[in-house]
Amino acid sequence: MKLLVPVKRVIDYNVKPRVKADGTGVDLANVKMSMNPFDEIAVEEALRLKEKGVATEVIAVSIGPAKAQETLRTALAMGADRAILIESDAEVEPLGVAKLLAKVAAEEAPGMVILGKQAIDDDSNQTGQMLAALLGWGQGTFASKVEVSGDAVAVTREVDGGLETVSLKLPAIVTTDLRLNEPRYASLPNIMKAKSKPLAQKKPEDYGVDITPRLTTLKVEEPPKRSAGIKVADVDELVAKLKALGVAA
Ligand code: AMP
Repeated sequence: MKLLVPVKRVIDYNVKPRVKADGTGVDLANVKMSMNPFDEIAVEEALRLKEKGVATEVIAVSIGPAKAQETLRTALAMGADRAILIESDAEVEPLGVAKLLAKVAAEEAPGMVILGKQAIDDDSNQTGQMLAALLGWGQGTFASKVEVSGDAVAVTREVDGGLETVSLKLPAIVTTDLRLNEPRYASLPNIMKAKSKPLAQKKPEDYGVDITPRLTTLKVEEPPKRSAGIKVADVDELVAKLKALGVAA
């Protein structure tokens, strides 16, 4: 069984995003970019399934600018077998991404597509669900455990106040939550090896997909600045202040 793992190049999670002065978006000039953290978890899960003998090939795919090749090389260095870049300098919204992934899935016929539950730049949490709908496949979102047996996969999901386990017939869509696994670091020899692994370069037009945006961003704003805290001398002063605020009886 092949596994398809979509990985997005996003602003690194350690970077504090700066809003552009004209409020049209986030300034990406000279900002460190990395693989979306939930996608690292997806790559790790796919590799573990391959190591268990459940999967035979792990294919990473990214839609983004030419530099998204670096993200794909990271996936290859972690252990993915090959990669596909669908190059677009324009930002592609989740529906466009899902339509492209549906075409790749039709071509590659994977047993599962394992995506992140959300990209930390747009926080959409839409792509996996849209892809499942476009393909007519079952979906197990927010996975904290994935177990394949025969032609089905049991996905344990993190839901409010507990865990839910669903069984899906393969092929299926899985989206990863934070507690699914801890992604490995790529070793130096594997980073070197990744340079010669196959990376196919495509364009959205090759798949006949219209990626015209459906949304218009009206305004992007910084969150309001938090006012500074104060130090209190002792518990009595703290309680007095809380009472004055009406938070303590
Ligand atoms: P989103 O719906 O934008 O929050 O993204 C959810 C997941 O879809 C991500 O964690 C990725 O696995 C996948 N995804 C979204 N955008 C892209 C992209 N441009 N290239 C590859 N994968 C993507």
